[in-house]
Amino acid sequence: MSELLEAAQQRMERAAELIGLEQEVVSHLLDPIETLAASVRLRRDDGSAVSLKAWRCRYNSSLGPTKGGIRFHPSVHLGEVETLAFLMTMKCALMGLPFGGGKGGVAVDAHDLSTMEMERVARGYVRAMAKILGPDRDVPAPDVATGEREMAWMVSEYSEIAGSIQRHAFTGKPVALGGMPGRTPATGRGGHIALEAMRDLAGLGEEGGLTIALQGFGNAGRWFARAAENAGHSIVAVADSSGTITDSDGLDIDELVEVKNEKGKVTAYGDGDASDDPEKVLSTECDVLVFAALGGVIADEEDVKALNCKAIVEIANRPILPAADSALADAGIEVVPDILANGGGVTVSHAEWVQGRQGIDWDEEDVSDYLEQKISDAADNVREVMQECDTDMRTAAYAVALRRLCAAISAHGTRADFGKS
Ligand code: NAD
Repeated sequence: MSELLEAAQQRMERAAELIGLEQEVVSHLLDPIETLAASVRLRRDDGSAVSLKAWRCRYNSSLGPTKGGIRFHPSVHLGEVETLAFLMTMKCALMGLPFGGGKGGVAVDAHDLSTMEMERVARGYVRAMAKILGPDRDVPAPDVATGEREMAWMVSEYSEIAGSIQRHAFTGKPVALGGMPGRTPATGRGGHIALEAMRDLAGLGEEGGLTIALQGFGNAGRWFARAAENAGHSIVAVADSSGTITDSDGLDIDELVEVKNEKGKVTAYGDGDASDDPEKVLSTECDVLVFAALGGVIADEEDVKALNCKAIVEIANRPILPAADSALADAGIEVVPDILANGGGVTVSHAEWVQGRQGIDWDEEDVSDYLEQKISDAADNVREVMQECDTDMRTAAYAVALRRLCAAISAHGTRADFGKS
């Protein structure tokens, strides 16, 4: 087992101990049910050919078909794919969705590929993984460097292989192919709903404007910022990979989105204080620091010392590593954990999968109500366990997820290898 996965499981084990779960049942969650490793052969535009390493992990399917994104990134590796699939297992369970957790990846730099080459990689990935995919088996979605365009190609390839139209075998598709209006803003909006639902428990009071610093201004970050600004909060700093822009009077988010779209970097924003150091956002004085970029940003006690916030919202997957947990607790910084704060994306993906099965289109208002309801219910469940067990938000979130998973694992009976077929 990779160190990454082992580290991620420490949090699950802490929660299992807290609520007294049987080790025999928890042991089902220590390894993925299956991971397929394959080579995707890419014919480049110049006629040459390269082999790309690719993986798809179905971590656990006791609650339903496995679900999770496919990322194209040069540093993707088996341990990362399995760790992210484990996190998806916990997230789907916490959100009360009938899905298990999965993840996939191709070790490739998407910036180096032409549009035609991207299409060949997307289709090649589906051909390599087709035997473990399917709407009732494993349902992929976009992740880093993949989006609705890639999902459209993948649906097309998978449908060819299956010999029938299989739109609900993938989510995050373009609306024209059965995608869901409201999927793009869902993760950022969900992060804001989670913050509002948990702000009192995060030591931020029940109402009033908050000051927020935000790392990452891509899809998730900008939709979070819009929702937070609309709710009366002040975004005082934003970082992207180019640097940090700070304004203690609050940045204008529509203007910042325009600048980022036109010039590609937040530091080109006209007002405020621009720095080419992306890490400056981490030490900005604020009520809430929001991570919406990378994993592994806060790795240890030293990283915690640099922070100047009262609470953290993790929209990115695993921005805080377990080695930093106790230093954060000692510093009194409460964390709204990733499996709750970024659960909006998979929640709306579930709506898209249901829409595909029903053959009836949802409208944007229904999607938005569903998102609000699911995040609020998950937050209420986390709150109950925090109070029942006198524990932190992350441990409580894992406990809620584990109770659902373990009930399903026990109900499956004695067969230890269920879920593979
Ligand atoms: P994205 O690629 O659209 O945006 C990423 C942003 O991070 C960009 O603004 C980029 O400039 C910034 N960034 C990169 N390196 C940085 C650095 N060193 N310092 C500061 N900023 C940096 O990605 P996204 O879809 O917004 O996803 C962001 C995070 O949220 C990822 O960790 C992703 O796994 C997670 N997430 C996203 C979704 C979703 O639906 N988009 C769902 C669940 C989780």
